[in-house]
Amino acid sequence: MYDDTIAAVATAPGEAGVAVIRSSGPRSREILLRIFQPSRSDGSGTTPQSPALSPRAEGALEPRRLVHGWVVDPTGGERIDEALAVVMPGPRSFTGEDVAEVHCHGGHLSPRRVLGAMLAAGARLAEPGEFSLRAFLNGRLDLAQAEAVLDVVQARTSRAHQLALDGVAGKLSEAIRDVRRDLQEPRAHLEASIDFSEEDLPPQDVGPALAAALARVQGLLAEADQGIVYRQGVRTAIVGRPNVGKSSLLNALLRADRAIVTELPGTTRDTVEETASLAGVPFWLVDTAGLRDSSDPVEQLGVARSRSALQTADLVLLVLDGAAPLAEEDRALAGAVVGRPLVVALNKADLPSRLGPDDVRALLPDARCVSVSALRGDGLAELEQELARTALGGLAAADPSVSNPRHKAALGRAEQALLAALEAHAAGLPTDVQAAEVAAAVTALGEITGENATEDLLDTIFSRFCIGK
Ligand code: GDP
Repeated sequence: MYDDTIAAVATAPGEAGVAVIRSSGPRSREILLRIFQPSRSDGSGTTPQSPALSPRAEGALEPRRLVHGWVVDPTGGERIDEALAVVMPGPRSFTGEDVAEVHCHGGHLSPRRVLGAMLAAGARLAEPGEFSLRAFLNGRLDLAQAEAVLDVVQARTSRAHQLALDGVAGKLSEAIRDVRRDLQEPRAHLEASIDFSEEDLPPQDVGPALAAALARVQGLLAEADQGIVYRQGVRTAIVGRPNVGKSSLLNALLRADRAIVTELPGTTRDTVEETASLAGVPFWLVDTAGLRDSSDPVEQLGVARSRSALQTADLVLLVLDGAAPLAEEDRALAGAVVGRPLVVALNKADLPSRLGPDDVRALLPDARCVSVSALRGDGLAELEQELARTALGGLAAADPSVSNPRHKAALGRAEQALLAALEAHAAGLPTDVQAAEVAAAVTALGEITGENATEDLLDTIFSRFCIGK
């Protein structure tokens, strides 16, 4: 499909045992032969043989077999690194094209120099996501699978990771293909009856088939929000008046000392943001500076940031001091967060209680309340469970196939189109109206797997990948 050969470092930069540099395209093998000298196959040493394009190098590089040797500069012949190399001829490769890989030492120099050698030998530096784009365009994986590959790389919790792996394996893709296939017949029937009169066609009621497809689409949609929570995490604002123990609680949840804990009120001036896996759900925890009026300009800035953190949060964790009576600030905060997905942590449970769950219920009747001690760690497991439960919105644990908002949006369009088709069908509207809606549903579904992806959409998706992916 492409006539140029791309190359990039596929592993993350930095000190590491091994780095992988890969190339894809028609000249992959030839380029590898120009920069790689296999060591003797009899195992009598690692002395490279020259020149690079030796018959032995040709013979040693059998498909999909790792070969030990040296990478050399294709212009000067100087040794660059000791490495293993492999060629994977297309179409049975990641991209569907001829692929070559060099596994050299990690670190700052080796990968860069090996890549430099490949470029000097005729490869072009790959664009971000270009390997995956080629894999998609060559039909090695569909769009939903390619996106799931990125999710595997970016997953922060084992649950998110597992869902992403399901996506790579084609769980969603299969479901989408099934629905598209089930829509083929009713669509063909509807389109045929535009051109022929009903009498010329075998009688068929497309209603049940459309309703079945709609039910499957709605089934996928029902789990989507949960999948998105697992994939994206839950932005949680930790709010509370100064000194109730927000930073201490954040630290306790993170089991690390990222936020500054201090005994001076109002010193958490900036917001602190951390990720944590709580009861299997990924959270972005934002510790806000005390939301209170202040004359200190620095603190005011922090307060402004807290307010915006509060506005953009998916969930609010309101911290109250259980060892002190309710303060006016607590009431004001409660008023600000009422109606939001909310969990109340009644902190300092290790001290004599001055504020109980009943007081919290009187203040915020719908909020879930957990007594904790950030200092001693009491109640944290329960708090984690409560946060996870609230984040999932009370949804029963499922194995969602959909976890990407793009897929959810496309499913939503398919749902609307199928609803409109069924309505037109029930109202006995002309078959071309019904057919157009079914076609729109098929197109929307095809955007998920990529059958109906525009170039712009592909650009948007693959440019988010890193170089070498
Ligand atoms: P923030 O201003 O809300 O972030 O509060 P901090 O986390 O800075 O805590 C304020 C003070 O309360 C510190 O002296 C903490 O050690 C103390 N503190 C926090 N959590 C607890 C707790 O569960 N029990 C007790 N006894 N003290 C706590």
